[in-house]
Amino acid sequence: MLNIWQNEKKYLPLHVFMEYNMLNIVIFGAPGTGKGTQSELLTKKYGLHHISTGEILREEIERKSPLGLLADQHISRGHLVPDELMIDMLADILDKTANTKGYIFDGFPRTIAQAQALDKLLNERDTAVVAVLSLKVEEQELIQRLLKRGRESGRSDDKLEVIENRMKVYKAQTDPLRDYYKKKGKLFNIPGSGSINDVFEEIVQEISRLSF
Ligand code: AMP
Repeated sequence: MLNIWQNEKKYLPLHVFMEYNMLNIVIFGAPGTGKGTQSELLTKKYGLHHISTGEILREEIERKSPLGLLADQHISRGHLVPDELMIDMLADILDKTANTKGYIFDGFPRTIAQAQALDKLLNERDTAVVAVLSLKVEEQELIQRLLKRGRESGRSDDKLEVIENRMKVYKAQTDPLRDYYKKKGKLFNIPGSGSINDVFEEIVQEISRLSF
């Protein structure tokens, strides 16, 4: 079963479609790799449901909800919000959006515990992660992109001290997930330093090789 994702086939055999049931994609990468931008394009093209956990947390902070106030303490330092909160939040979203053709997971999972929880939550819904698209960009370029975004959008965690922490957290806690998904044959590396359209083209090609 696992080898299906690594072989030369340009389409998914019917039984794989039947097994996965939905097109669930994790868009993966360090802060600033363009996950949000690419997720929005993918959402439009394939009619999927975009789940950006960072975006949801920022809305909670804006509303000053109890979750927002708690999350802000972690986000403003460049730390991760505790797994338990994130997993509960995701379970709730999955329950509320059950009728979608598939999900784009953007910013989730960020730890091994979250990846295991995602597998379990999807399995309970008779589906699974189909592919993890891992965007790769040099760290210096990422820092420049995030500083620019901070100047333009005023996003409070896009300032140098916090960015440096987010990079450390990414390397220690999130990057190991590449191995987790590689072992499952679900990891696809995408060069992320080209233009938005070029990166999107690469992603679309990778998806077309997976399915249809
Ligand atoms: P993002 O918009 O994806 O860059 O997320 C912004 C911040 O929200 C991160 O630096 C974390 O502090 C927090 N966050 C978002 N998603 C998660 C997650 N899955 N687990 C823990 N913290 C998260």
